[in-house]
Amino acid sequence: MECPRCASTHIRKNGKKSSKQNYICAHCGRQFIDSDEQQGYPEAMKKECL
Ligand SMILES: [Zn+2]
Repeated sequence: MECPRCASTHIRKNGKKSSKQNYICAHCGRQFIDSDEQQGYPEAMKKECL
């Protein structure tokens, strides 16, 4: 896992937000949610892209 802003892999856990693991980048301080659960797009979104 790496920071979406600075691509640093120096990530720390930062509690949970609505049952999802929250992380914080120790390098730039950017907070983000574990993206492993959010792979792929919902069907409705795919249709809009086409
Ligand atoms: Zn960062």
